[in-house]
Amino acid sequence: IIEADNLEKWFGAHKVLDGVSLEANRGDVIAIVGSSGSGKSTLLRCMNLLETPDAGSLRFRGEQIAFDGAPHERARRKQVERLRSQVGMVFQAFNLWDHRTVLENLMEGPRFVLGLSRREAADRARAYLAKVGLSGKENAYPAHLSGGQQQRVAIARALAMAPHAILFDEPTSALDPELVGEVLRVMRQLAAEGTTMVIVTHEMAFARDVASRLVFLQGGRVAAQGAPRDLFGGGAPQRLRDFLSGGG
Ligand code: ATP
Ligand code: MG
Repeated sequence: IIEADNLEKWFGAHKVLDGVSLEANRGDVIAIVGSSGSGKSTLLRCMNLLETPDAGSLRFRGEQIAFDGAPHERARRKQVERLRSQVGMVFQAFNLWDHRTVLENLMEGPRFVLGLSRREAADRARAYLAKVGLSGKENAYPAHLSGGQQQRVAIARALAMAPHAILFDEPTSALDPELVGEVLRVMRQLAAEGTTMVIVTHEMAFARDVASRLVFLQGGRVAAQGAPRDLFGGGAPQRLRDFLSGGG
């Protein structure tokens, strides 16, 4: 679904992604791990063009994504819009619209991006709220929910767009420990249903149990990747073992 090939990203003189390739196929659950500053968020953001890569290529459902608009800037913008509407993103800080109710948060994209009627969008929103265990919270405002509930709303909001894949950037890192489980449970269920997901996480047990592939970033490069059972089972290169024993 998403193929990133040899992506490079510079911030000033700092090369943050140094030729990263990553392929997410249908049903893949890819866990991206690595220490702070290794480029995990930048990689995810490049995958839906929240950042523009400086080199390399990105394909979405077989279509080459243009990084540079000239001379077809309008076509490129349409392409980016399509990519963003079909690839969900869940952030560490939830990023819900605070002045909208839970239901409105879920209806916005389906109504104004997908063009559903108010009624259709509301029905769809209710269905996904039920899926993440939040029926009954339709009219609540985000501030009145726990962090775990807010993150489940954010996941439901992503799902309501019926995306081809969802990118998660440390979805449980901002949560109190007792709230992590309820979010991971929802993600586990999505994985079991075959949702294509790319997940930056420090939850190693989750990565080991749920991911179909583990990608270890170090200094903007893929330093190791493979099946979690191999990488956690002693088949890992030393630098990944050092990272894992450092507590993730
Ligand atoms: P963390 O685990 O702390 O979230 P990360 O692996 O997600 O780290 P990135 O956020 O991708 O790391 O950042 C990689 C490097 O790029 C860091 O050195 C960071 O300071 C730098 N960086 C990220 N975004 C920007 C930006 N917008 N401008 C300048 N430098 C940036
Ligand atoms: Mg990050």
